[in-house]
Amino acid sequence: MTTARAVPPPPTNEPVLGYAPGSAERAALESRLNELAKGPIETASFIAGEVVETGTTFDVRAPHAHDLQLATVHAADRDVVARAIDAALAAKHDWEAMPWEERAAVFLRAADLLAGPWRQTLNASTMLGQSKTPFQAEIDAACELIDFFRFNVQFYSEILAEQPISAPGIWDRTDHRPLEGFVLAVTPFNFTAIAANLPFAPALCGNTVVWKPSEKQAFSAHFVMELFRAAGLPDGVINLVHGDGAMVSDVCFDHPDFAGLHFTGSTTVFRSMWKRIGDSLPTYRTYPRIVGETGGKDFIVAHRSADPEALVTAMVRGAFEFQGQKCSAASRAYVPRSLFDRIREPLADTTRSIEMGDPTDFRNFMGAVIDEGAFARHRDAIAQAEADGPTSVLAGGQTDDSVGWFVSPTVVVSEDPRHDLMERELFGPILTVHPYDDDAWSETLDLVDSTSPYGLTGAVFADDRAAIEEAMARLRHAAGNFYVNDKPTGAVVGQQPFGGGRASGTNDKAGSALNLYRWISPRSIKENFVPPKDHRYPHMG
Ligand code: NAD
Repeated sequence: MTTARAVPPPPTNEPVLGYAPGSAERAALESRLNELAKGPIETASFIAGEVVETGTTFDVRAPHAHDLQLATVHAADRDVVARAIDAALAAKHDWEAMPWEERAAVFLRAADLLAGPWRQTLNASTMLGQSKTPFQAEIDAACELIDFFRFNVQFYSEILAEQPISAPGIWDRTDHRPLEGFVLAVTPFNFTAIAANLPFAPALCGNTVVWKPSEKQAFSAHFVMELFRAAGLPDGVINLVHGDGAMVSDVCFDHPDFAGLHFTGSTTVFRSMWKRIGDSLPTYRTYPRIVGETGGKDFIVAHRSADPEALVTAMVRGAFEFQGQKCSAASRAYVPRSLFDRIREPLADTTRSIEMGDPTDFRNFMGAVIDEGAFARHRDAIAQAEADGPTSVLAGGQTDDSVGWFVSPTVVVSEDPRHDLMERELFGPILTVHPYDDDAWSETLDLVDSTSPYGLTGAVFADDRAAIEEAMARLRHAAGNFYVNDKPTGAVVGQQPFGGGRASGTNDKAGSALNLYRWISPRSIKENFVPPKDHRYPHMG
C-alpha cells in the first residue's frame, strides 16, 4: 500500500546490440544457442501456475535444420482450454483490483530482465525456432519486446491521467476499467515480440488472458511464459494454451464471458474469427472488442527522380530480411522503365550475393522459411513466375529442402501490373517488380492503390518533392505505415506506431495508446457534493 502518484521511468528505445566478432553479447548468444540446441525440451500449456500435459504432442523443429528437434509440445484439448478460461476468470478480481503501478511493475521488471539476463534466451530461442539471424532476433525478441513493455506502461499511465472537467460543486472522474470477462490473444509465428505483446497489453490494463501462440513459435513462446513468471506475474493472469487455433478459439467464442480478441495473423483466419464472433453475439454478456492485425502486400513505388542505390538497398532489405516473413515486407515494386534499366543488374547482383543458410552461422543474411507449407507455396509461386507469359525470374528462384526449408531471395519481373504475384500475399522472399512507362507516374499511383486488398505498409522513393507529395496524397489509404525514401519494414515502438487498414486489420497500432484503449471500458463517475432538494426549475416561478 502506498500513497504515491506513481510516474513510470521514462521509456527510451532499447539500443540494438551489434554482435560483432569478439563482442561480449556475441559470446553470450553463442553460448545460449549451444545450450538450447542440445536437445528437445518438453513443454505444455501453462494454466494458473500449473503445467498441463495432455499426452497429445507435436514437435517443433528448426526451420533451417530438419534434424534439429527443439521441443515436444503437449497440445491443449477442449477441456484444457475451458480450464484456461476458468483460471483467467478466477484471477480477474485480484488482478483488476491491484494498484495499476503494481501491475505495471511486473512488466517493467520483465523489460529489465529481458534487457539483461534473459536477452540471449529469447534471442537464441527465436533464432533456432523461427530461423532469424542474430540481428533479426535482437530487433524482435529483445528490443521490440522491451520497448513494448516500457512504452505501453508509459502510455497506460497517460491514459489513466486523462480525466474530465468538473462543474462547480461536482467532481467528475473516469474510471479506466478493464473489460468484463476474459481476453483471447492468438498470435503469429513471425515475431516473438508480437506473441508476447498481444497477451501483455490487455493484461497491463487489468484484463486476464488466454494466450494461444502459433504452433510454429511454440519454442520461444515457452521462454516468453517463463519470463513472465520470472518477472512475478501472478498465476492465472496470462494462461498459455498450445495447439490448434480453430479449436481453442471455438471454445473461447462459445463462452459468455468472452470479452475481446487480440489477434495477429492472416486475413483469412481473422475474417473467419470475426464471423464466428458475430454469429455468437447473443451469447455474450458484453460486445467483444475485436482487434486484428493481418496480412499485407506491401509496396515500393519509385519515381523517375529516385536515387537508384537507395532504391536497390531498400528493395533488398525490405523484401528479403527475415526471408520476407514480415507483414511489412516489400513484395511488389513499381519502377519507371528508364530507372529499371539502370537498377536491373545491381538489383539482380545484390540479390544473388545474399548469404543464406543456418542463422547460427553469423555470416548469413537470411535463414529458412518457417515450414513445409511456406516452402511449397514459394516453390509453386516461382514455377508460376517461370511459366506465365508476363512474368520472368530476374534473380534467385532456387529452392532446397534437403537440410531445411530454404527459398533463395527471388526477384520476379511482371509486365502485367495485376498479375497474381503482384496481388497475393506470399509471405516470403519473393519481390515482384512491375516496370512502368516513365510518363505514367499518376496512373501508376492509382494502380498501387487499387491492386491489392491490403493497406499495411508502403514506400515512395523520389527526390522530386512534388512527386512525394502526390504519392502521399493519392496513397493516403493504401498504407497504415508510409515511408518516404526508406524501406517499408522496421517500425520502432514509440516512433512509428504499427498497423494497417483495409484487409490488413483494424489499425489499432500495437505499442501505442490507441491499442490500449481497446482493452479499457471507461466508467464515467459524477459526484454531486450538494445535491438539489427541490425538483422545480426557476422558469416555473
Ligand atoms: P496464421 O493466420 O496462420 O496464424 C496466426 C495464429 O492463428 C496462429 O496462432 C494460428 O495457430 C492461429 N490459427 C490458425 N488457423 C486458425 C483458425 N482457423 N482459427 C483460429 N486461429 C487460427 O498466421 P501466421 O502464419 O502465424 O502469420 C503470418 C501472417 O500474419 C501473415 O499473413 C502476416 O502478414 C500476418 N502478420 C501481420 C502482422 C501485422 O501487424 N499486420 C504482423 C505479423 C504477422
